Amino acid sequence: MPKKVFSIKKSVSSKKAPESEEELFSEPSETKKAVVNSPSVVRAGKRTPELLRGFRDILPDEQPYWDMVRDATRSVAEAYSFDRIDLPILEREELILRTIGKQTDIVEKEMYAFEDQGGDRVVLRPEMTASAVRAYINHGMLNLSQPVKLYYMGPNFRYERPQAGRYRQHHQIGFEVMGSEEPILDAQLMVLTFHLLKDLGIDTVMHVNSIGTLESRQQYKTELTSYYRSKRNQICEDCKRRLLKNPLRLLDCKVETCQPIKADAPQILDWLDEDSKNHFMHVLEFLDEAGVPYTLDSRLVRGLDYYTRTVFEIWAAADEGERSQNSLGGGGRYDNLIEMLGGREGTPACGVALGMERIILAMRELQVEIPKHGADVFFAQLGDAARRQGLRLFEECRRSGIRIREAFGKNALKTQLELANKCAVPYTLILGQKEVLDGTIIIRDMESGAQEIADVTKIVSLLKKKLEPKEKEEKS
Ligand code: AMP
Repeated sequence: MPKKVFSIKKSVSSKKAPESEEELFSEPSETKKAVVNSPSVVRAGKRTPELLRGFRDILPDEQPYWDMVRDATRSVAEAYSFDRIDLPILEREELILRTIGKQTDIVEKEMYAFEDQGGDRVVLRPEMTASAVRAYINHGMLNLSQPVKLYYMGPNFRYERPQAGRYRQHHQIGFEVMGSEEPILDAQLMVLTFHLLKDLGIDTVMHVNSIGTLESRQQYKTELTSYYRSKRNQICEDCKRRLLKNPLRLLDCKVETCQPIKADAPQILDWLDEDSKNHFMHVLEFLDEAGVPYTLDSRLVRGLDYYTRTVFEIWAAADEGERSQNSLGGGGRYDNLIEMLGGREGTPACGVALGMERIILAMRELQVEIPKHGADVFFAQLGDAARRQGLRLFEECRRSGIRIREAFGKNALKTQLELANKCAVPYTLILGQKEVLDGTIIIRDMESGAQEIADVTKIVSLLKKKLEPKEKEEKS
């Protein structure tokens, strides 16, 4: 096994988690500032509708980050041959109970579960692996060439205590590989995650562990339980509950007084069966080969019941250990899940899920620059006739590939030119009453301020000619 330093996550940062809505969603937002400051929001005697706690609107000024994350995901997915799948937000409650496990926080405390109009018990999905596996079975993907590699992006719902980076609706990117147990695939999930986040400007470190097969884990659980029983009067109340219900979760405890007990607890790696040990060794070798930084984390067990063998979590290198609530993502093998849900016996699989909000928070903290999708031309109009003709002209430019912006809702030329300046376009088209009558249009060079009058029927080819050198410059 390659030599790496064993590390245990440090205890939770002592920083107080933000509680108020303002504190909670305090990312800079020009639109939000404008709304909050607007006198129309609080009118005497009228209550404005409120956002649900833990939910948030993703406002226009934040969208460039989301676009960048989605674009990078699509590009990495394509490179590593993952096909896109979109899954329903609502699933049968039974699917989640059978996969995630009844004695997990998600099922015990965090589910948005209810009965629909037809009397079926349904849930707003808390995660998407269960749905991806259901889809794999439902659509006979077992009969396709294996492994089947799927990726998705979308919202999940968990009734958690909201704090920075933890919302009741959050979005995940997921990659799932079904139908192969090759350790290179476990490693590939970590490699692609590492590169995806690097493309987004975030340096990361993987925390990796193996929790073995269900059988070897059972033996370990017995050992862990007997160790903790002998310390019963020294552990916190939560740990006492975990000891009875879900002993592996003892290793997740963040309470200060439990840390020395946890540090001396038996380590799962010592209880691995030979196959799991071999598998894990290969995974680590592949990671070494790919140059992905990782730390062996013998306390990492992950929260969900379905994991087997490899488990991992992804941390921003800058935060590693600091904010132990805020991993960017996590994943692992789930070799029994497909069979458990009625799929072909012994179909192995592995996957990873990344939190989109957390990625964007990290990008903002690291002040990652967002590529600007610039415009070439701004269209300004004066008067009704110009507006009418402008609609057609604008569409003509857009269809011929000119990146054009407009402000049909504005009247004053000064305001429109200010907007054109904001868009940093090299040219503005100005169409007034006189130009409409003459069949002309003004082209203003925004840098020099020089204006020329052109034949309106030739405007598209003229603009293309003017923009040619700029396009060449951008391509080179
Ligand atoms: P999990 O499905 O719990 O393994 O979570 C995978 C990733 O999703 C985490 O590492 C987070 O980045 C993200 N995540 C999970 N729960 C939340 C939440 N309540 N709010 C924001 N992000 C979350």
